[in-house]
Amino acid sequence: MIQAYPKKHMLAAISIGAVLTLVLVISPSSKVNANRTSIPVVLDTLKSDQSDLESEAVTPALSIIVKAPVENWDTFTVKSGDTLSSLFSKAGFNDRSMYNVLGKGNKNKELTKIFPGEKIAFLSDSDQALTKVKLIRSKLESVLLERDDSGAFNSETVMREPEIHTAYSEGIIESSLFLAAQAAGLSQSQIMEFANIFGWDIDFVLDIRQGDEFSLVYEELYLDGEKYKNGKIVAASFTNQGKKYEAVLYQQPNGVANYFTPDGKSMRKAFLRTPVDFARISSHFNMKRKHPVLHKIRAHRGTDYAASRGTPIKSSGDGKVVHAGRKGGYGNTVIVQHGQKFTTLYAHMSKFGRGVRKGKRVKQGQIIGYVGSTGLASGPHLHYEFRVNGVHKNPVRVKLPHANPIPRNQLADFKSQTKVHLAQLHTFSDSYQVALKD
Ligand SMILES: [Zn+2]
Repeated sequence: MIQAYPKKHMLAAISIGAVLTLVLVISPSSKVNANRTSIPVVLDTLKSDQSDLESEAVTPALSIIVKAPVENWDTFTVKSGDTLSSLFSKAGFNDRSMYNVLGKGNKNKELTKIFPGEKIAFLSDSDQALTKVKLIRSKLESVLLERDDSGAFNSETVMREPEIHTAYSEGIIESSLFLAAQAAGLSQSQIMEFANIFGWDIDFVLDIRQGDEFSLVYEELYLDGEKYKNGKIVAASFTNQGKKYEAVLYQQPNGVANYFTPDGKSMRKAFLRTPVDFARISSHFNMKRKHPVLHKIRAHRGTDYAASRGTPIKSSGDGKVVHAGRKGGYGNTVIVQHGQKFTTLYAHMSKFGRGVRKGKRVKQGQIIGYVGSTGLASGPHLHYEFRVNGVHKNPVRVKLPHANPIPRNQLADFKSQTKVHLAQLHTFSDSYQVALKD
Protein backbone atom coordinates (compact mmCIF):
# COMPACT_ATOMS: atom_id res chain seq x y z
CA MET A 1 0.00 0.00 0.00
CA ILE A 2 2.75 2.34 0.96
CA GLN A 3 6.25 2.79 -0.23
CA ALA A 4 8.94 4.39 1.89
CA TYR A 5 11.65 5.01 -0.68
CA PRO A 6 13.76 8.08 0.02
CA LYS A 7 12.95 10.62 -2.65
CA LYS A 8 16.49 10.68 -4.04
CA HIS A 9 16.47 6.93 -4.70
CA MET A 10 13.10 7.15 -6.26
CA LEU A 11 14.21 9.84 -8.68
CA ALA A 12 17.34 7.88 -9.54
CA ALA A 13 15.27 4.79 -10.27
CA ILE A 14 12.80 6.75 -12.34
CA SER A 15 15.55 8.22 -14.45
CA ILE A 16 17.02 4.75 -15.02
CA GLY A 17 13.57 3.68 -16.15
CA ALA A 18 13.41 6.65 -18.46
CA VAL A 19 16.80 5.80 -19.96
CA LEU A 20 15.63 2.25 -20.64
CA THR A 21 12.58 3.61 -22.42
CA LEU A 22 14.71 5.97 -24.48
CA VAL A 23 16.94 3.14 -25.63
CA LEU A 24 13.94 1.84 -27.52
CA VAL A 25 13.01 5.21 -28.95
CA ILE A 26 16.31 6.87 -29.71
CA SER A 27 19.28 5.05 -31.12
CA PRO A 28 22.09 5.41 -28.57
CA SER A 29 25.00 4.45 -30.77
CA SER A 30 26.00 4.30 -34.38
CA LYS A 31 26.40 0.53 -34.30
CA VAL A 32 24.55 -1.09 -37.14
CA ASN A 33 22.23 -3.60 -35.66
CA ALA A 34 20.71 -5.59 -38.41
CA ASN A 35 22.74 -8.03 -40.38
CA ARG A 36 20.31 -7.84 -43.27
CA THR A 37 19.34 -4.83 -45.23
CA SER A 38 15.99 -4.17 -46.74
CA ILE A 39 15.49 -5.44 -50.26
CA PRO A 40 12.51 -3.73 -51.86
CA VAL A 41 10.11 -6.39 -53.04
CA VAL A 42 7.40 -5.41 -55.47
CA LEU A 43 4.26 -7.20 -54.39
CA ASP A 44 1.91 -5.81 -57.00
CA THR A 45 3.36 -7.40 -60.11
CA LEU A 46 0.88 -10.27 -60.14
CA LYS A 47 -2.07 -7.93 -59.91
CA SER A 48 -0.84 -5.35 -62.38
CA ASP A 49 0.17 -7.79 -65.15
CA GLN A 50 -3.36 -8.21 -66.34
CA SER A 51 -4.26 -4.52 -66.30
CA ASP A 52 -1.17 -3.80 -68.42
CA LEU A 53 -2.42 -6.25 -71.03
CA GLU A 54 -5.84 -4.64 -71.00
CA SER A 55 -4.52 -1.14 -71.40
CA GLU A 56 -2.34 -2.24 -74.31
CA ALA A 57 -5.34 -3.77 -75.99
CA VAL A 58 -7.32 -0.52 -75.96
CA THR A 59 -4.53 1.73 -77.25
CA PRO A 60 -6.09 3.45 -80.29
CA ALA A 61 -4.33 3.37 -83.62
CA LEU A 62 -4.82 7.10 -84.16
CA SER A 63 -4.47 9.62 -81.40
CA ILE A 64 -5.77 13.15 -81.55
CA ILE A 65 -3.90 15.64 -79.43
CA VAL A 66 -6.19 18.07 -77.65
CA LYS A 67 -4.48 21.07 -76.13
CA ALA A 68 -6.02 21.81 -72.76
CA PRO A 69 -5.99 25.52 -71.90
CA VAL A 70 -3.33 26.28 -69.32
CA GLU A 71 -4.94 27.48 -66.08
CA ASN A 72 -2.94 30.12 -64.26
CA TRP A 73 -3.85 29.60 -60.63
CA ASP A 74 -2.58 32.11 -58.10
CA THR A 75 -1.75 30.01 -55.03
CA PHE A 76 -1.11 31.10 -51.42
CA THR A 77 -0.19 29.08 -48.33
CA VAL A 78 -2.39 29.96 -45.33
CA LYS A 79 -0.29 31.28 -42.43
CA SER A 80 -1.39 31.81 -38.86
CA GLY A 81 -2.98 35.24 -38.57
CA ASP A 82 -4.33 35.10 -42.13
CA THR A 83 -8.03 35.74 -42.62
CA LEU A 84 -10.12 34.92 -45.65
CA SER A 85 -10.30 38.64 -46.33
CA SER A 86 -6.51 39.08 -46.15
CA LEU A 87 -5.98 36.11 -48.48
CA PHE A 88 -8.43 37.53 -51.03
CA SER A 89 -6.67 40.86 -50.74
CA LYS A 90 -3.23 39.26 -51.37
CA ALA A 91 -4.69 37.79 -54.54
CA GLY A 92 -6.00 41.21 -55.57
CA PHE A 93 -9.69 40.75 -54.74
CA ASN A 94 -11.77 42.87 -52.40
CA ASP A 95 -14.26 41.88 -49.72
CA ARG A 96 -17.14 42.19 -52.18
CA SER A 97 -15.60 39.39 -54.30
CA MET A 98 -15.10 37.38 -51.11
CA TYR A 99 -18.76 37.74 -50.08
CA ASN A 100 -19.83 36.84 -53.59
CA VAL A 101 -17.78 33.61 -53.40
CA LEU A 102 -19.16 32.82 -49.94
CA GLY A 103 -22.68 33.17 -51.36
CA LYS A 104 -26.00 34.10 -49.80
CA GLY A 105 -26.05 33.37 -46.07
CA ASN A 106 -22.46 32.05 -46.33
CA LYS A 107 -23.77 28.93 -48.06
CA ASN A 108 -20.20 28.00 -49.11
CA LYS A 109 -19.16 27.90 -45.47
CA GLU A 110 -16.27 25.45 -46.06
CA LEU A 111 -14.31 28.53 -47.07
CA THR A 112 -14.75 30.10 -43.63
CA LYS A 113 -12.90 27.19 -42.00
CA ILE A 114 -9.33 27.66 -43.14
CA PHE A 115 -6.27 26.51 -41.21
CA PRO A 116 -2.57 27.36 -41.34
CA GLY A 117 -0.70 25.06 -43.71
CA GLU A 118 -3.62 24.74 -46.13
CA LYS A 119 -3.41 26.35 -49.55
CA ILE A 120 -5.86 28.61 -51.30
CA ALA A 121 -5.78 29.20 -55.04
CA PHE A 122 -7.55 31.74 -57.26
CA LEU A 123 -8.33 31.59 -60.98
CA SER A 124 -9.51 34.56 -63.06
CA ASP A 125 -10.83 34.94 -66.57
CA SER A 126 -9.39 37.25 -69.24
CA ASP A 127 -11.32 40.20 -67.68
CA GLN A 128 -9.57 39.59 -64.36
CA ALA A 129 -12.89 38.43 -62.86
CA LEU A 130 -12.70 35.56 -60.36
CA THR A 131 -14.01 32.28 -61.79
CA LYS A 132 -12.73 29.59 -59.43
CA VAL A 133 -11.37 29.35 -55.89
CA LYS A 134 -9.75 26.18 -54.62
CA LEU A 135 -9.04 25.42 -50.97
CA ILE A 136 -6.44 22.65 -50.78
CA ARG A 137 -6.75 21.10 -47.34
CA SER A 138 -4.31 18.25 -47.88
CA LYS A 139 -2.89 16.13 -50.68
CA LEU A 140 -6.12 14.15 -50.49
CA GLU A 141 -8.81 16.74 -49.84
CA SER A 142 -9.73 19.99 -51.52
CA VAL A 143 -12.80 22.21 -51.93
CA LEU A 144 -13.50 23.68 -55.37
CA LEU A 145 -15.73 26.74 -55.72
CA GLU A 146 -16.80 27.53 -59.27
CA ARG A 147 -18.78 30.43 -60.73
CA ASP A 148 -21.89 29.44 -62.67
CA ASP A 149 -23.64 31.37 -65.48
CA SER A 150 -25.63 33.45 -63.00
CA GLY A 151 -22.40 34.60 -61.35
CA ALA A 152 -23.00 32.64 -58.13
CA PHE A 153 -20.36 30.27 -56.73
CA ASN A 154 -21.06 26.61 -55.96
CA SER A 155 -18.79 24.42 -53.90
CA GLU A 156 -17.78 20.82 -54.25
CA THR A 157 -15.47 18.77 -52.01
CA VAL A 158 -12.99 16.73 -54.02
CA MET A 159 -11.46 13.68 -52.32
CA ARG A 160 -8.60 11.76 -53.87
CA GLU A 161 -8.09 8.10 -53.12
CA PRO A 162 -4.43 7.16 -52.77
CA GLU A 163 -3.26 4.08 -54.60
CA ILE A 164 -2.29 1.36 -52.10
CA HIS A 165 0.87 -0.63 -52.73
CA THR A 166 2.12 -3.40 -50.49
CA ALA A 167 5.67 -3.55 -49.21
CA TYR A 168 7.62 -6.08 -47.19
CA SER A 169 10.49 -5.74 -44.77
CA GLU A 170 12.31 -7.98 -42.34
CA GLY A 171 15.35 -8.07 -40.11
CA ILE A 172 17.23 -9.74 -37.30
CA ILE A 173 17.87 -8.03 -33.99
CA GLU A 174 21.42 -7.53 -32.77
CA SER A 175 20.67 -5.31 -29.78
CA SER A 176 17.34 -3.53 -30.07
CA LEU A 177 14.23 -3.69 -32.19
CA PHE A 178 14.55 0.02 -32.92
CA LEU A 179 18.03 -0.21 -34.42
CA ALA A 180 17.31 -3.36 -36.40
CA ALA A 181 14.03 -1.99 -37.74
CA GLN A 182 15.66 1.31 -38.63
CA ALA A 183 18.36 -0.57 -40.53
CA ALA A 184 15.59 -2.42 -42.36
CA GLY A 185 14.18 0.90 -43.54
CA LEU A 186 11.21 1.30 -41.22
CA SER A 187 10.15 4.69 -39.90
CA GLN A 188 9.90 5.51 -36.22
CA SER A 189 6.09 5.46 -36.27
CA GLN A 190 6.09 2.08 -38.03
CA ILE A 191 8.42 0.70 -35.35
CA MET A 192 6.12 1.98 -32.60
CA GLU A 193 3.11 0.51 -34.42
CA PHE A 194 4.90 -2.83 -34.73
CA ALA A 195 5.88 -2.80 -31.04
CA ASN A 196 2.28 -2.01 -30.09
CA ILE A 197 0.97 -5.03 -32.01
CA PHE A 198 3.20 -7.46 -30.09
CA GLY A 199 3.56 -5.40 -26.92
CA TRP A 200 0.84 -7.42 -25.22
CA ASP A 201 3.04 -10.53 -25.27
CA ILE A 202 6.56 -9.13 -25.49
CA ASP A 203 8.37 -6.53 -23.41
CA PHE A 204 10.56 -4.85 -26.02
CA VAL A 205 13.08 -3.74 -23.40
CA LEU A 206 13.42 -6.83 -21.23
CA ASP A 207 12.47 -9.82 -23.43
CA ILE A 208 14.51 -9.00 -26.55
CA ARG A 209 17.41 -11.32 -27.42
CA GLN A 210 20.06 -11.22 -30.11
CA GLY A 211 18.78 -13.23 -33.07
CA ASP A 212 15.10 -12.34 -32.61
CA GLU A 213 13.50 -11.91 -36.03
CA PHE A 214 10.78 -9.67 -37.36
CA SER A 215 8.96 -9.35 -40.66
CA LEU A 216 6.03 -7.28 -41.80
CA VAL A 217 3.78 -6.54 -44.76
CA TYR A 218 2.62 -2.95 -44.82
CA GLU A 219 0.81 -0.53 -47.07
CA GLU A 220 2.41 2.36 -48.92
CA LEU A 221 0.11 5.09 -50.18
CA TYR A 222 0.85 6.63 -53.58
CA LEU A 223 -0.46 9.74 -55.33
CA ASP A 224 0.39 10.45 -58.99
CA GLY A 225 2.89 7.61 -58.97
CA GLU A 226 4.78 9.01 -56.01
CA LYS A 227 4.89 7.61 -52.50
CA TYR A 228 2.95 9.94 -50.27
CA LYS A 229 3.15 8.11 -46.96
CA ASN A 230 3.20 4.74 -45.23
CA GLY A 231 -0.10 3.05 -44.53
CA LYS A 232 -1.04 0.40 -42.03
CA ILE A 233 0.87 -2.74 -41.11
CA VAL A 234 -1.41 -5.49 -42.43
CA ALA A 235 0.48 -8.61 -41.31
CA ALA A 236 3.52 -9.11 -39.11
CA SER A 237 5.54 -11.75 -37.36
CA PHE A 238 7.97 -11.65 -34.51
CA THR A 239 10.17 -14.50 -33.29
CA ASN A 240 11.23 -13.88 -29.71
CA GLN A 241 13.63 -16.30 -28.00
CA GLY A 242 12.61 -18.97 -30.52
CA LYS A 243 8.88 -18.47 -30.11
CA LYS A 244 7.05 -17.18 -33.19
CA TYR A 245 4.12 -14.76 -32.95
CA GLU A 246 2.01 -13.76 -35.95
CA ALA A 247 -0.57 -11.03 -36.31
CA VAL A 248 -2.90 -9.91 -39.06
CA LEU A 249 -5.07 -6.81 -39.33
CA TYR A 250 -8.83 -7.34 -39.63
CA GLN A 251 -11.56 -4.76 -39.93
CA GLN A 252 -14.67 -6.06 -38.19
CA PRO A 253 -18.12 -5.33 -39.67
CA ASN A 254 -18.56 -2.53 -37.08
CA GLY A 255 -15.64 -0.74 -38.77
CA VAL A 256 -13.13 -1.23 -35.94
CA ALA A 257 -9.79 -2.69 -37.06
CA ASN A 258 -7.67 -4.79 -34.71
CA TYR A 259 -4.86 -7.29 -34.89
CA PHE A 260 -5.56 -10.99 -34.45
CA THR A 261 -3.62 -14.23 -34.56
CA PRO A 262 -4.12 -16.15 -37.83
CA ASP A 263 -6.74 -18.33 -36.09
CA GLY A 264 -8.75 -15.33 -34.88
CA LYS A 265 -7.61 -14.75 -31.29
CA SER A 266 -7.12 -11.13 -30.32
CA MET A 267 -3.53 -9.91 -30.05
CA ARG A 268 -4.80 -7.64 -27.31
CA LYS A 269 -5.29 -8.84 -23.78
CA ALA A 270 -8.41 -8.04 -21.81
CA PHE A 271 -6.18 -6.15 -19.33
CA LEU A 272 -3.21 -3.81 -19.54
CA ARG A 273 -0.30 -5.23 -17.57
CA THR A 274 0.56 -1.82 -16.10
CA PRO A 275 -2.08 0.87 -15.55
CA VAL A 276 0.43 3.76 -15.51
CA ASP A 277 3.12 4.79 -18.02
CA PHE A 278 6.51 6.13 -16.98
CA ALA A 279 6.41 4.35 -13.63
CA ARG A 280 8.58 1.81 -11.88
CA ILE A 281 7.60 -0.84 -9.38
CA SER A 282 8.44 0.43 -5.90
CA SER A 283 6.89 -2.47 -3.97
CA HIS A 284 5.95 -5.93 -5.18
CA PHE A 285 3.05 -8.20 -4.28
CA ASN A 286 4.26 -9.85 -1.06
CA MET A 287 2.19 -11.72 1.49
CA LYS A 288 4.80 -11.19 4.28
CA ARG A 289 5.88 -7.62 3.88
CA LYS A 290 6.92 -5.39 6.76
CA HIS A 291 4.73 -2.33 6.39
CA PRO A 292 6.89 0.76 5.79
CA VAL A 293 4.69 3.07 7.85
CA LEU A 294 3.15 0.72 10.44
CA HIS A 295 6.38 -1.38 10.83
CA LYS A 296 4.32 -4.55 11.23
CA ILE A 297 4.08 -7.66 9.05
CA ARG A 298 1.22 -6.85 6.69
CA ALA A 299 0.50 -8.64 3.44
CA HIS A 300 0.97 -6.41 0.41
CA ARG A 301 -1.81 -7.63 -1.87
CA GLY A 302 -0.93 -5.47 -4.83
CA THR A 303 1.84 -3.78 -6.75
CA ASP A 304 3.04 -0.23 -6.09
CA TYR A 305 4.10 1.94 -9.01
CA ALA A 306 6.06 5.05 -8.10
CA ALA A 307 5.26 7.88 -10.47
CA SER A 308 5.07 11.62 -10.20
CA ARG A 309 1.93 13.19 -8.79
CA GLY A 310 -0.67 13.75 -11.47
CA THR A 311 0.47 10.90 -13.76
CA PRO A 312 -2.69 9.53 -15.44
CA ILE A 313 -3.96 6.15 -14.22
CA LYS A 314 -5.70 4.03 -16.86
CA SER A 315 -8.39 1.42 -16.35
CA SER A 316 -6.60 -1.81 -17.18
CA GLY A 317 -9.71 -3.27 -18.82
CA ASP A 318 -13.28 -2.56 -19.96
CA GLY A 319 -15.69 -2.65 -17.04
CA LYS A 320 -17.99 -0.89 -14.61
CA VAL A 321 -16.94 1.39 -11.74
CA VAL A 322 -18.21 -0.16 -8.50
CA HIS A 323 -16.42 2.27 -6.17
CA ALA A 324 -15.05 5.79 -6.67
CA GLY A 325 -14.32 7.63 -3.43
CA ARG A 326 -12.42 7.53 -0.14
CA LYS A 327 -11.57 4.10 1.24
CA GLY A 328 -9.66 4.22 4.58
CA GLY A 329 -5.86 3.88 4.23
CA TYR A 330 -6.29 3.47 0.44
CA GLY A 331 -7.29 7.12 0.16
CA ASN A 332 -9.06 8.08 -3.08
CA THR A 333 -9.79 4.73 -4.68
CA VAL A 334 -11.48 3.39 -7.81
CA ILE A 335 -12.59 -0.24 -8.08
CA VAL A 336 -13.60 -1.56 -11.51
CA GLN A 337 -15.59 -4.77 -12.04
CA HIS A 338 -14.73 -6.61 -15.29
CA GLY A 339 -17.42 -9.20 -16.06
CA GLN A 340 -18.18 -11.70 -13.31
CA LYS A 341 -14.64 -12.85 -12.55
CA PHE A 342 -12.28 -9.90 -12.31
CA THR A 343 -11.96 -6.71 -10.28
CA THR A 344 -9.12 -4.17 -10.28
CA LEU A 345 -8.41 -1.56 -7.60
CA TYR A 346 -6.48 1.71 -7.89
CA ALA A 347 -5.54 3.54 -4.66
CA HIS A 348 -3.96 6.78 -3.32
CA MET A 349 -5.23 8.89 -6.25
CA SER A 350 -4.79 12.65 -6.08
CA LYS A 351 -8.03 13.06 -8.04
CA PHE A 352 -10.50 11.06 -10.12
CA GLY A 353 -10.80 11.02 -13.90
CA ARG A 354 -13.55 13.10 -15.46
CA GLY A 355 -16.97 11.49 -15.16
CA VAL A 356 -15.64 8.50 -13.22
CA ARG A 357 -18.42 7.65 -10.78
CA LYS A 358 -19.94 4.53 -9.28
CA GLY A 359 -22.07 2.76 -11.90
CA LYS A 360 -20.28 4.31 -14.92
CA ARG A 361 -18.79 2.12 -17.67
CA VAL A 362 -15.10 2.59 -18.47
CA LYS A 363 -13.02 1.41 -21.44
CA GLN A 364 -9.60 -0.17 -21.36
CA GLY A 365 -7.00 2.61 -21.29
CA GLN A 366 -9.49 5.28 -20.20
CA ILE A 367 -8.08 7.68 -17.58
CA ILE A 368 -9.86 6.98 -14.30
CA GLY A 369 -7.67 9.07 -11.98
CA TYR A 370 -4.26 10.56 -11.28
CA VAL A 371 -1.35 9.43 -9.12
CA GLY A 372 -1.26 10.94 -5.63
CA SER A 373 -0.59 10.04 -2.00
CA THR A 374 -4.01 10.18 -0.35
CA GLY A 375 -4.63 7.72 2.50
CA LEU A 376 -1.72 5.93 4.17
CA ALA A 377 1.06 6.71 1.70
CA SER A 378 4.46 8.25 2.24
CA GLY A 379 4.87 9.48 -1.33
CA PRO A 380 3.00 9.63 -4.63
CA HIS A 381 2.39 6.18 -6.09
CA LEU A 382 -0.34 3.95 -7.46
CA HIS A 383 -1.27 0.91 -5.40
CA TYR A 384 -2.83 -1.56 -7.87
CA GLU A 385 -4.69 -4.78 -7.03
CA PHE A 386 -5.94 -7.52 -9.34
CA ARG A 387 -8.55 -9.97 -8.07
CA VAL A 388 -9.76 -13.15 -9.76
CA ASN A 389 -12.98 -14.52 -8.23
CA GLY A 390 -12.30 -12.36 -5.16
CA VAL A 391 -8.75 -13.69 -4.64
CA HIS A 392 -5.81 -11.27 -4.84
CA LYS A 393 -3.29 -12.16 -7.57
CA ASN A 394 0.12 -10.71 -8.28
CA PRO A 395 -0.63 -8.10 -11.00
CA VAL A 396 2.85 -8.54 -12.48
CA ARG A 397 2.58 -12.32 -12.89
CA VAL A 398 -1.13 -13.11 -13.31
CA LYS A 399 -1.93 -14.71 -16.68
CA LEU A 400 -4.03 -12.15 -18.50
CA PRO A 401 -6.96 -13.37 -20.58
CA HIS A 402 -7.13 -12.43 -24.28
CA ALA A 403 -9.57 -9.76 -25.40
CA ASN A 404 -12.59 -11.11 -27.29
CA PRO A 405 -11.73 -13.33 -30.28
CA ILE A 406 -13.43 -13.06 -33.69
CA PRO A 407 -17.05 -14.14 -33.14
CA ARG A 408 -17.94 -17.43 -34.86
CA ASN A 409 -20.25 -15.77 -37.36
CA GLN A 410 -17.40 -13.47 -38.55
CA LEU A 411 -14.77 -16.20 -38.89
CA ALA A 412 -15.42 -16.84 -42.59
CA ASP A 413 -15.15 -13.11 -43.36
CA PHE A 414 -12.01 -12.89 -41.21
CA LYS A 415 -10.34 -15.75 -43.09
CA SER A 416 -11.14 -14.35 -46.52
CA GLN A 417 -10.10 -10.79 -45.62
CA THR A 418 -6.76 -11.80 -44.08
CA LYS A 419 -5.77 -14.69 -46.39
CA VAL A 420 -3.87 -12.57 -48.92
CA HIS A 421 -1.83 -10.64 -46.38
CA LEU A 422 -0.84 -13.78 -44.48
CA ALA A 423 0.15 -15.46 -47.72
CA GLN A 424 2.26 -12.42 -48.62
CA LEU A 425 3.94 -12.52 -45.22
CA HIS A 426 4.92 -16.17 -45.73
CA THR A 427 5.75 -16.00 -49.44
CA PHE A 428 7.90 -12.92 -49.21
CA SER A 429 9.70 -14.21 -46.20
CA ASP A 430 10.67 -17.24 -48.33
CA SER A 431 11.62 -15.27 -51.44
CA TYR A 432 13.64 -12.93 -49.27
CA GLN A 433 15.82 -15.85 -48.20
CA VAL A 434 16.27 -16.75 -51.88
CA ALA A 435 17.11 -13.16 -52.81
CA LEU A 436 19.75 -13.04 -50.11
CA LYS A 437 21.45 -16.17 -51.41
CA ASP A 438 21.72 -14.77 -54.93
ZN1 LIG B 1 0.70 -0.73 -1.99
